[in-house]
Amino acid sequence: MKVHEYQGKEILRSHGIATPEGIACLDSGQARPAAEKLGGDSWVVKAQIHAGGRGKGGGVKLAASLDEVEKAAGEIFGMNLVTHQTGPGGQKVRRLLVEKGARIANELYVGLVIDRARQQIVLMASAEGGMEIEEVAERSPDKIKKVWADADTPFAEAQLAQVAGDIGLSGESKSQFVDIGQRLHKAFVATDASLCEINPLVVTESGSLLALDAKFNFDANGMYRQQQVAELRDEDEEDPTEREAAKHDLSYISLDGDIGCMVNGAGLAMATMDIIKFHNGSPANFLDVGGGASKEKVQAAFELMLANPGIKAILVNIFGGIMRCDVIAEGVVAAAREIGLKIPLIVRLEGTNVEQGKQILADSGLKITSASGMDEAARKVVAAAAGSQ
Ligand code: GDP
Ligand code: MN
Repeated sequence: MKVHEYQGKEILRSHGIATPEGIACLDSGQARPAAEKLGGDSWVVKAQIHAGGRGKGGGVKLAASLDEVEKAAGEIFGMNLVTHQTGPGGQKVRRLLVEKGARIANELYVGLVIDRARQQIVLMASAEGGMEIEEVAERSPDKIKKVWADADTPFAEAQLAQVAGDIGLSGESKSQFVDIGQRLHKAFVATDASLCEINPLVVTESGSLLALDAKFNFDANGMYRQQQVAELRDEDEEDPTEREAAKHDLSYISLDGDIGCMVNGAGLAMATMDIIKFHNGSPANFLDVGGGASKEKVQAAFELMLANPGIKAILVNIFGGIMRCDVIAEGVVAAAREIGLKIPLIVRLEGTNVEQGKQILADSGLKITSASGMDEAARKVVAAAAGSQ
């Protein structure tokens, strides 16, 4: 689960990490009064969407007067903001953050994520803040400094001081960095975060450190004990198909390809996407219908896939263990009848009740191509998607 920058900053502030003063707005008309209330002589108007790269995309504007705040808010609110993280479709801006402008001497990067290989929390820091950290990681990985800690033991002061020195901090800003590193660890663990990123963490002209941006992702498995975090959910920012899928208890992730995949089991779903890619095809989604799905659940899954206008062919790849092939077949046939299937459907069934499953598909009168084996199934669906262009 993700939250907005202004919500992330509230979490930072509640853990004693300094951020600029700001006010969130749900309408562009609220921006000018917000700036007046904040006071000062410069402000920043920032689009609040669940994606980074807003600056480059025109979603962050500096303002030196209240008129400029009003103008920037008018331009940003409601715009379709396209960044490298939103995908080409962009994201509509429905919330703004108006902040007091900061005087920046230097932009740094600091982020915490889970290092799965080490089973620890890793803090990454770089003197090259403000830009895409992925680019820095690719171009000059040595410019990213890392230290590790367990969830129940904070980073040691010496570790953080070393990192601070490595990214060019000294004196008062060095000790502030150590303090921020320790507080971030606490915030990360307390909220069941899976990612916490401050980019940029700035050194102001007066020498103090300030979190100018905040990005949090949270572990969905921790939400049952994170009432406060769960309340920050903004459904407008979520993929509508994924939201619908969650209601049916389906694991569904939208992708940008054109081949719909319906599979049982996450491992088989991953392997299916791999083999489609291997044959130069492109999956439109990840979809795991799970082990004990009912006919209704299969039908719902199939309809979700078909709701994607970019889809050109569908592959159903089922290895029936607990899941029975006849149940899958019934769900597929019901959905295809309901909606009227106009694109090629390739089905590979194996396992429990496979013969009944195949019979149901054959008796349905629907135009279905069957395949034996994953490789054949993938080749057939890639060819079908290419042919129906
Ligand atoms: P992102 O592009 O989505 O990561 O949005 P950020 O919140 O990181 O803002 C992008 C950039 O805008 C920052 O790297 C800063 O250079 C600039 N910026 C943001 N707030 C301020 C501010 O208060 N003063 C100044 N001078 N620049 C700012
Ligand atoms: Mn940023």
